[in-house]
Amino acid sequence: MVTHNADRSSAGRARQPARGLRHPVIPVALLALILAPLAWSQRTQLKPGWNMFSPQQDVEMGQQVSRDAEQQVQMLNDARVDNYLNNLGRTLASHTPGAQYPYQYKCVNDRAINAFALPGGFVYINRGVIEAADNEAQLAGVMAHETSHVALRHGTNQASKAYVAQVPLAILGGVMGNKNSMAAILAQLGADFATNSLLLKYSRTGESQADEMGTQILYDSGYDPRAMGQFFEKIQAEDRSGRPVEFFSNHPNPDNRMERVDREISLLGGSPRGNKTDSQEFQEIKRYVMSLPAPRAKGSTQSLTGNTGSGDRGRRSTLGLRILSARYGAQDRFTDVRQLLQSRVQNDRLNLQVTNTSMGGDPIKGRKALLVSYEWAGRTYDAVVQENQWVTIPTEQQQTGTTTSSDTRPGWPSDRVKPFENSVLRIEYPDNWQAYGQGDVAATIAPDRGMVDDGQGNQALAYGVILNMYELRAESYYSQQLQPEGYGQSSGQSLEDATNRLIEELRRSNQGMRIIRSPESVRVDGERALSTDLSNESPLGGRETDWLVTVPRPEGLLFFVFVAPDGDFQSYNHTFRVMLDSVRFRR
Ligand SMILES: [Zn+2]
Repeated sequence: MVTHNADRSSAGRARQPARGLRHPVIPVALLALILAPLAWSQRTQLKPGWNMFSPQQDVEMGQQVSRDAEQQVQMLNDARVDNYLNNLGRTLASHTPGAQYPYQYKCVNDRAINAFALPGGFVYINRGVIEAADNEAQLAGVMAHETSHVALRHGTNQASKAYVAQVPLAILGGVMGNKNSMAAILAQLGADFATNSLLLKYSRTGESQADEMGTQILYDSGYDPRAMGQFFEKIQAEDRSGRPVEFFSNHPNPDNRMERVDREISLLGGSPRGNKTDSQEFQEIKRYVMSLPAPRAKGSTQSLTGNTGSGDRGRRSTLGLRILSARYGAQDRFTDVRQLLQSRVQNDRLNLQVTNTSMGGDPIKGRKALLVSYEWAGRTYDAVVQENQWVTIPTEQQQTGTTTSSDTRPGWPSDRVKPFENSVLRIEYPDNWQAYGQGDVAATIAPDRGMVDDGQGNQALAYGVILNMYELRAESYYSQQLQPEGYGQSSGQSLEDATNRLIEELRRSNQGMRIIRSPESVRVDGERALSTDLSNESPLGGRETDWLVTVPRPEGLLFFVFVAPDGDFQSYNHTFRVMLDSVRFRR
């Protein structure tokens, strides 16, 4: 339902050939028509970087994390201000390229100058930004910058890179197999709002991209495109004068910020006359916000500095234990004790004896029971606890994980094949397996019982194939423009080096992994590739063989990992080789 096409804005417009300008007599109106498309083709083309999540998952992730965020920051909750921000924001969003996210803009009751955006379009503007902005265009500039972070998918791009680096291969396979809930993914990443530096802390390259796209959005929305840069310049001066501005702690100031913004404006053809700079409505909202009472003292409220302080690590309110519903009573007479149970949760644990008193003194006589439904580590459970028994959550079994029965081998791979295709390749796989694409490149292809529960709320891949991209060349759009040559042609980027770095990365998140056969040259669809055999711990217990194949592609280092437990690897070897032989790259 969400389309992903960052170039949509320019694609629909025909490029006027520049030679038209040489024509001696061109009426002014026609000249304008010719110049306008030139501006489109000259503006910096910006595309999201590599991502293993789909745009739809950006929205899911944003929804989950925004719930957390709105409990941790103090929301202004003022309909007049939020409506104003939303109207302004939607105007900007309608001129924003990329996936069409359900953008929403809300005001945070904090006088610090800051703003942040969560994946999928959840944008938060501190009242301090409204109070500090001189005019509507400057506020729009900050909002356009945040909106660009969403459109360029910077949050989930960071999360994707962290995921590949941190998460064991088997779990990665399971995640790409779409079998893990977003809550479990966030728990793995430690990416809830409190601990989250990941979704909010952008690279300097990300900042430059958001500045450039933000400037384009302002221009396309009819605002003075210089306003964003002016606002940043202004708060930078304040920052330098010794009053640190919070904005720069999540949005690191890129080098030559103003030069890049100015360059983008000139690529757009300058700031046209008659652009909107201010509105009466903005000035009224600004006066109104300034007249509102000061925010409550912050206390322990999480600041938006993207702090990864270890003190926050344990705070996983929505990812640890959450009571979804709790009813106490008998037959058809129950009282809702959800709030009561939630208030007794400590450190994501609940341990409580179910009695009439502990459940709030229900007047009904007779033997009663507690019916509780809860989420723990991203999975939901139901439990019935009788009077006088203890409710202990998580149970010992949930903490240690259930042992997986070894008698759940997948069925034999079929000889008939079907194709899977994504933006980089086409591959054939047994028609009794399933292929799960993820993002642009990543995919897991596995038999039905190839994924097993690792006992901690994760689906782990025990049999099947993972494919993914490492060390992307399109890390930033700049590098793609500056280094059009293929992988391996620039210094330090040989296939061997890149493969070694990938193996090092994999070993960091798979501690039992070791190389059992050194890299050897092979061919994949005629391209030079490396084949390496690794031994790793299987999620089924015992060990597995991971056959790693790395192939340099223009986008980065493409890798396949073919996985089966040691005892079964020989039987699957043929299937894996047939699959690798069937690979055809998009060229
Ligand atoms: Zn930023």
